[in-house]
Amino acid sequence: MRIEPLANGEKLSLSYEDEELRLFFIGTGSAFSKILNQTNLLIIKGKDHLLVDCGTKTPQALHSIGCPLSNIRNYFLTHTHADHIGGVEEVCLTSRYMKKKKPAICIPEYFENILWDYSLAGGAAYNERTGGKPLTFGDFWEIKRPVWAAGYPRETWEADIGSINLKIFRTMHIPDSASTWEDSFPSFGLVIDNIILFSSDTRFDPDMVRDYGSNKKIQAIFHDCQFFTGGVHSSLEELSTLPKDIRAKTYLMHYQDSWEKVLPAVEEAGFAGFARQHVYYIFP
Ligand SMILES: [Zn+2]
Ligand SMILES: [Zn+2]
Repeated sequence: MRIEPLANGEKLSLSYEDEELRLFFIGTGSAFSKILNQTNLLIIKGKDHLLVDCGTKTPQALHSIGCPLSNIRNYFLTHTHADHIGGVEEVCLTSRYMKKKKPAICIPEYFENILWDYSLAGGAAYNERTGGKPLTFGDFWEIKRPVWAAGYPRETWEADIGSINLKIFRTMHIPDSASTWEDSFPSFGLVIDNIILFSSDTRFDPDMVRDYGSNKKIQAIFHDCQFFTGGVHSSLEELSTLPKDIRAKTYLMHYQDSWEKVLPAVEEAGFAGFARQHVYYIFP
């Protein structure tokens, strides 16, 4: 893997001539970061791309690096917190009324219903009436269903977005009282092309890291991290109990603006470091 920062003034590209897998963080901050952007990830491979999450700040964050939101063709959403879906109403409305072309979204049916009923319908459903009825999720999106993937220790789905392969598994994020992924409100992590584990938001869940991240094929883990223990995220202290070989390939993300103060402790604990926004992580 090599790391290449986006040069000053360079525009974000969604297409490359090679077939390398590029991960580009629009942001690596927590939900309430004021300096960092929110932890949303763009995956690019050859001519294919996928935006994983689109938080409140992401339309502006993309604009600032020369990539209009309307250029994004494929979406995956990990859960319904606003730092992950707060920009999605803008996607719905600008694609229907300005670009007049539906973007694609990869989403299990039950999670589509949660996303629409709890989060999106209020802003999107009632802008028109067709035959006396409000709009539906499918009026805004080309829907791609992932397929059930058997043989995993927890709920797992699989999808191919062009050449990008995703394994989509349930995580344990909210509420803080849930003791397993099964009694948590739906949230998802990803294995990308069988070589990257991306936790998205999760409480400390060593079983998840073992089951999806310990395979030798996994080259890098990008894991949720906060600097105190408690609540609905994984703490640096908890993550420091993971096996040494796991820590060595783990980049921390979804962290507070004060990350530089914590950098010595992260290095001391043997992590690969902090994932950084506006940097390409390129995998052969
Ligand atoms: Zn978040
Ligand atoms: Zn969250």
